[in-house]
Amino acid sequence: MTNRDPEPSSRKAIAKRALEDADHIKIKKSRTTKAKRKETDQNFDHWPQYFHSLFKVYKALNTVLAFVTSRKQLATTFPSIRSSVENITKQPLDMSQVAELKALLPEIITFAYVPRNQIQVNVSAKFSKDEPDFSAFAKHSSKEPEHVLLLEFAESWKGASGGTKASHNEYLVPATRTPAATKKLVEKRNDRFIKAVNELLAATSSSDDPVFLLKAAARDYIPVDPEHIKNNPSVDETAHMPVPSSEDRAPVYDILAELQEQHWYKDQIVERRTVEPREGQTGCLEPLLSSSIQQALQSSRNIETLYSHQATAINALNSGKDVIVSTSTASGKSVIYQVPLLRLLENDPHTTAIFVYPTKALAQDQKSALENLLRACPGLEHIQVSTYDGDTPVEQRAGIRASASVIFTNFDMIHAAILPHEELWRRQAFLKNLRLFVADELHYYSGTFGSHVAQIMRRLRRVCVAVGSTYVSQVQQSYTSVIVIFFTHLPRLHTDHHARFVSCSATIANPLAHMVNIFGLDSSQIQVVTEDGAPTGMKEYLLWRSPYVDEHEPALGRQSSIAEATALMRFLMKRGIRVILFCKIRKVCELVMKTLRNELSSEGRYDILERVQAYRGGQSFWYRILHLVVLIRRSDLGYSAEERRRIEHDAFTGHLLGIIATNALELGVDIGTLDAVLMLGFPVTLASFRQQAGRAGRRKRDSLAVFIAEGLPIDQYYLNNPHELFDKDTDDLLIDLDNEIILEAHIQCAAHEMPICFEDEKYFGPLLKEICKFKLHRDEDGWYHPDSKCLPSPSKLISIRGTQEDKYVLVDVTKSDTSAKILEEIEISRAVFEVYEGGIFIHQGRPFIVQEIHHDTMLVKLVQADVNWITKQRDFTDVNALQTYRTRAIKATPHRAYYGRVEIFCQVFGFYKMRHNVILDVVDVESSPWIHETVGMWIDVPDLVLQLLRDKCIKPAAAIHSAEHAFLNQFPLASDIRTECKAEEKEYLKKESRRKRPARLIMYDPVGHGSGVAAKAFEHASDTLNKALVAVESCRCERGCVKCILSASCKEGNIVSSKPGALAILKAILNIEINPDSIPFETDERALHGHDSIISVSPVHTRTPQSVPIGNASST
Ligand SMILES: [Zn+2]
Ligand SMILES: [Zn+2]
Repeated sequence: MTNRDPEPSSRKAIAKRALEDADHIKIKKSRTTKAKRKETDQNFDHWPQYFHSLFKVYKALNTVLAFVTSRKQLATTFPSIRSSVENITKQPLDMSQVAELKALLPEIITFAYVPRNQIQVNVSAKFSKDEPDFSAFAKHSSKEPEHVLLLEFAESWKGASGGTKASHNEYLVPATRTPAATKKLVEKRNDRFIKAVNELLAATSSSDDPVFLLKAAARDYIPVDPEHIKNNPSVDETAHMPVPSSEDRAPVYDILAELQEQHWYKDQIVERRTVEPREGQTGCLEPLLSSSIQQALQSSRNIETLYSHQATAINALNSGKDVIVSTSTASGKSVIYQVPLLRLLENDPHTTAIFVYPTKALAQDQKSALENLLRACPGLEHIQVSTYDGDTPVEQRAGIRASASVIFTNFDMIHAAILPHEELWRRQAFLKNLRLFVADELHYYSGTFGSHVAQIMRRLRRVCVAVGSTYVSQVQQSYTSVIVIFFTHLPRLHTDHHARFVSCSATIANPLAHMVNIFGLDSSQIQVVTEDGAPTGMKEYLLWRSPYVDEHEPALGRQSSIAEATALMRFLMKRGIRVILFCKIRKVCELVMKTLRNELSSEGRYDILERVQAYRGGQSFWYRILHLVVLIRRSDLGYSAEERRRIEHDAFTGHLLGIIATNALELGVDIGTLDAVLMLGFPVTLASFRQQAGRAGRRKRDSLAVFIAEGLPIDQYYLNNPHELFDKDTDDLLIDLDNEIILEAHIQCAAHEMPICFEDEKYFGPLLKEICKFKLHRDEDGWYHPDSKCLPSPSKLISIRGTQEDKYVLVDVTKSDTSAKILEEIEISRAVFEVYEGGIFIHQGRPFIVQEIHHDTMLVKLVQADVNWITKQRDFTDVNALQTYRTRAIKATPHRAYYGRVEIFCQVFGFYKMRHNVILDVVDVESSPWIHETVGMWIDVPDLVLQLLRDKCIKPAAAIHSAEHAFLNQFPLASDIRTECKAEEKEYLKKESRRKRPARLIMYDPVGHGSGVAAKAFEHASDTLNKALVAVESCRCERGCVKCILSASCKEGNIVSSKPGALAILKAILNIEINPDSIPFETDERALHGHDSIISVSPVHTRTPQSVPIGNASST
C-alpha cells in the first residue's frame, strides 16, 4: 500500500459515501448473494452515461487482472496490462480513468509508483545450499531503485482467511485459482463497483454533478513518478510541501483534526485522552545558591529558577537526607544532583562523586552536560569528570583515580573493578572523599539484575564506611581496627561527613520501597519527591486499531499494523512532527524501516527519507566488541562503527525527523525535542508503556502518544480496557534480597574486599551467619574470608547481567570481499534464527541476502539484495528436561515439582520466501542445531486431565501454555525466567507433526544466567500454583487476560491459549476434583484445526543427583 496518504482536497462525495457505508453493511448481511446480485443488477439504469463507460473500463481491467493473477502472485504494472485492457474495450486506456476508479474504490485498488524491487519476484528457481539465487538482485544495488507504476487489486482478494488475527501470524500460500473461482471473483468485484457508484450518486446533492466530483477527487490519485519529482523538484509543489520546521509546525490538535479527514482514516482511533497543559511550579532554595553556581546554571542551561520538585530535593540533600525523585520524563531531574555536587565542590575541592547510569549512551550524554556546567562555573572549571567503565583503557585508569573528582560508571564496574581494587582507590582517597552517590534511572534495576545491584550497593557502603575515617587510613591493615571502625562510626552514618545517595526514576509505584531495597538505607533518612513542578504542554493519547482491509468484507481481516504505523508516521512527519516509533523487537524495527523506505521513495519524499533512521537496541557493548573483533581477526574489514555515533549525533542535534527504535531508547537518552511517540504493539510492561509515552513533549510543547495495537490478545485486551493503560498502578519493582545464590556470591566478594564479621549482618541480612559458617573460611581471629574455590577473584565468577553471549559479525561483501564493511553483530541465540544461507537479513530497512556463514570464525557474509520478499525461518525449539536434581512435593497432593538440568534445542530447517503475508516459496536448509544447557523446574501434568481436555476439543498444548503463563503471572521474578511458548503455526497447523512434547509445565533460567530464579520458582511451586489457581478461577474475563493467563512477554503473542484448559490443569496438579461438565467446549475456530502435539509424561531420570549444586552462579 503505497498511495495511502495524498493531501486532502475536495472529497465531499467520497466522505459522504463513507458515512453511509455502515447502513449498507447491514443490508448486505441480511440478504443472500443472489438477492443482492439482483438488487444491484437492477440498480444501474439511472446512471449518467459517463459511469456506464467507466464501468466498461473497470470490467475490462477487472477481468485482465483476475486472469493475470489467477496463477502467480505477480505484481502487475500499468504498462503490462494496458494493451490487454485496450483490446477488450477497443479504446485507449487513460491514466486519469484508472485514477477515477481508484477514487471510487480507494481501499481496493492500488495504483502507484513503487520501487522496481517491489515487483521483482523470483519464485521459480529453488536454489540449493551451495548456490544461492542472486539473479533477482543483480542490478540496482548501488543507487535508489527506479520506480514502476503498479496497478493491482487489494492483496487480500487473493483469498485470505480469518478475521482479526495478528497479521504477522497468518500466511497465505498462493492459490492456483480455478476458472470458476476467477469468474466469481470478477463478479464480486463488479458488484462492488456498482455499489460504489450508487453510493456516490446517493450522496451527491442535486446541485452537484457526480461526474465532476469524481473527476475532481481523481486528481489526487494520478500517480507521479518519484524519479520525475526528484529530478524536477518544482513539478508538483502542492503535493510536496516542504516539511515545516519544528517551531513552525501546526498544533497537534489541528493535525489530528486533519488526520481524521484523510481518506485512509477509518475510525482507527478507538480511544482519545487529552491531558491538559500544566503550569510550572517554582520553589526556593534554602540557603540560596552562590552567585557562581547561579551564573553557571544560567549560562549553560538558561536556568534562572528551579521547579518545586528540584528545590525540595536539593534542600533535602542539603539537610543531610538521601533523596529519591520519581517524576515524569523530562522534568529536569539531573539538576537535582548536579547542583548539590557544585555546592559540595565549592565547599571542599577534594569532594568526589560517583554517577551511575544503566547504559553507556546515557552516561555519555550526562557527562557532557555536567562538564559544560562545571566549565561555566567560576572556580570549578578545572574539575575533572571522567568515564570509568569497561571501555576505559587500563593505562588510563590510575590517572583517573588520581585526578578525577567525578566518575561516570555503572554497577558492573563497581562490582568487578572498583570494589575488588578498593585499596587503589583508598590510596587516592577517592572513596574517603566520596560525598555524593548518584544512581539515575533507578527503575531499571529490578528482577535478578536489581537483586545483584542491591548487594553491590551494600558492599560499596560497607567499604565506604570503613574508609570514611582518617583513623581507618592510618591503621587500615589491622582487622581489629576494622571492628573499631564499625563501632565508632555507625551512629554517624549520616552526619555531614557521609556520602549522600540520590536516585531518580521514572514514575514508579513505590519509589521509597525501591530506594530502600536497592541501597539498603534506613527509610527515615530518605526524602521522597514525587510532586512534579515542571510545566507540561498539552498531551494527546490515542489508541489505534487497524481498520478492516475492506470494511465491506471483514473476512479479509485487518490492515497490517506495520502499514498503519508507517502511514501515520509519514502523515506526521510531513507536517513537521518529530516522531519516534517504538517496536518490540529488532526485526520489526527493520521491517518498518523497509516499508517506510519503499513508501517514501514511492512518493518521491527523499527529503523525508534521508531524515529517518532505525536505531536498534541491545548494543551497549557494540564498540568494544567491534574493536576486539577487528583486532582479533586482523581482517581487512572496513570499520563502520561510526554509524551508531552518527545516528546518535543526528538525533541529538535535531536533524532527524523520524526514529524507529527498539526499547533501548526508552532509557532517557536525551534525543532532543520529540513531538510524537508511536508504539507498535504493547510494550512488555505498563511501566514501559508510560516511559515510552513520556518520551514526547518537552518544554511546554504539545505532544502526541499513540499506541497502535497489533492483533495479539494482549493488545486487544488493552484496546478493550483502555483505562488500565492510564489509571492502573504499575507493578512494584521487585528484587530478591534473600536469594541465597546471589547473596552468597556477593558475600564471597565482600569477604575478599574486607574480612567479614557477624556485624555485617546489618548489610547482608540474617542469612549472613549461616552463609559464613558453611560457605566461607574462618581464620583464628574469627574473621571470615572467601572460600578458596572463589579465589583469586570472587567477583569474576558472578555475571550480574547474565553472561554476554558470543556474537556473529555480519559483513557486507556486496562490492567485494576485500572492501567488506561490518554491518552489525548479533548474539548466537538470535543468529540461529535470523541468519541462514539464502535468507534475507534486513539492515537499516535494506534487504541483504545471506551468502555464507562461517561458524568457526563467527563471520556472516551478506550481499545487498534488491528484492521485495523477505524470509521467515521454519524452525522448532524444544525445551527438554534432561536430568532431575531435586524433587519437592506439591503441598497436599501426590504430585511433585522437579528441578534439574534443562536443554534448549533450536533447529532451523528451512525458510519461507514471503511477500506481504504470502508464501512465495518454501526452501529447505541444512544447519546444525543450536543446543544449550541451563537449569530449570518443571511440573508434570497428570494424564487424566489431558483426556478431559481432549473430550472438550481443547488442545492440551494451549492449556499447558496458558497454565505456564498463569504460574509466571504469580511469580515475582517472572521477568528473569523463561518458559516454552507455543507458536500458532506449530500447534494449529493442518498437518500432523512428528514432534510430540511431554505434558509438562516447564520454566528455566535463560541461557547463561544461572541466577537461581528457576530454583526459586521450584522452591515456591506450591504457593505459586495455588495463587495461579485463584487468579484464573476468580478472573471474570472471558477468554483470558493479563491478570490470569496472558503474558505481555509471551514470545508467541499468547495466540495459543485456553483459559478453561489452564484452570483444569492447575486443578489437576493441585489434586482438586474437576467436574467434566464445568469445562466448556473449545470455541476458537483456529484451535479446532491442527493436531494434538502433547503426549503423556514419564519422569526424568536422576542420575548423579548429589554432584551438581542447585543453580550455578559461579560458572555459567
Ligand atoms: Zn482474566
Ligand atoms: Zn507464551
